[in-house]
Amino acid sequence: MIELSVIIPIYNESMNIHLLHERLTKVVSNLAKTYELIFINDGSKDNSLELVKELSLIDKHVKFIDLSRNFGHQIAVSAGLDYCKGEDVVIIDADLQDPPELIEPMWKKLKEGYQVVYAKRRARAGEGYMKKWTAKMFYRLLSKITSFPIPVDTGDFRIIDRRVVDGLCQMKENHKFLRGQIAWIGFNQTYVEYDRAERNAGVTGYSYKKMINLALNGITAFSNVPIKFVTISGFVVSAIAFLMIIYSFIAKYFIVEGYASGWSSIMVSIMFLGGVQLVSLGIIGEYISRINTDVKQRPLYFIAETNAENENESIKE
Ligand code: UDP
Ligand code: MG
Repeated sequence: MIELSVIIPIYNESMNIHLLHERLTKVVSNLAKTYELIFINDGSKDNSLELVKELSLIDKHVKFIDLSRNFGHQIAVSAGLDYCKGEDVVIIDADLQDPPELIEPMWKKLKEGYQVVYAKRRARAGEGYMKKWTAKMFYRLLSKITSFPIPVDTGDFRIIDRRVVDGLCQMKENHKFLRGQIAWIGFNQTYVEYDRAERNAGVTGYSYKKMINLALNGITAFSNVPIKFVTISGFVVSAIAFLMIIYSFIAKYFIVEGYASGWSSIMVSIMFLGGVQLVSLGIIGEYISRINTDVKQRPLYFIAETNAENENESIKE
């Protein structure tokens, strides 16, 4: 066992790796006598892997895990969690949007008797209005529909202790939403606030598609409210239909005049019902597609090359 592990997922970050390594080392070497920096290369298309490998030759604290392809940020972090040996573990982005210097206050807070200290964004620099707004709305929605609190305005930048790491390694689901899983695990959790900086260099690896997927994973993994919404909309539509039936009879037998007209009401009800049904099918489908991937129980990722030893027996083949 060592004191501190830092998990860094890497996707096309060649322009950030050296500065990140420098800033991380400065902070972490002051905090812990024994530490490791685990870089997980998530199928980068640039020379990030070569840079990390070079670093690992110069600095024995540097470990690398090269995944067999791009599996996505959450899976890359999960691979790091499987392989890390630290008593305490930091999860941090490679683009320096999460300042390594914040690890010190986070670690101090952890030592006051917490198991999780996450970094809460006070402000976010250099990110588009749309991204900030959608993220804000998403976190508010998620906190309304889950039965336990998932902290708002936080990413995965945090420090967690061994108990939480072991807990995460037991949660084998394919569709990861780590910040939700960590909140779900519980224990004593707190936060420190920070202003999120701009990306140091390079472009975001989170396309809108990846963001929507992450959001759907978060919702489906931690809430059944969308399914309840389907049920409730079924009841509401049935109630409206019942009223319409009564109205149709009255119209036919008592208000004979102008009875044949009714094109718009038929159109409206067909379109409305079609919409409700398709949305409902879509919601159910989102849940079923996740069941579909989870029952196959495929490994979360494959590793092409690594210099880190895995002591977690459960994932050895
Ligand atoms: N990342 C990854 N795989 C991906 C996308 C991103 O490992 O498919 C890493 C990326 O290198 C960075 C972190 O995840 O260290 C956060 O990604 P990014 O900064 O692109 O997201 P944003 O901050 O724009 O939400
Ligand atoms: Mg970023």
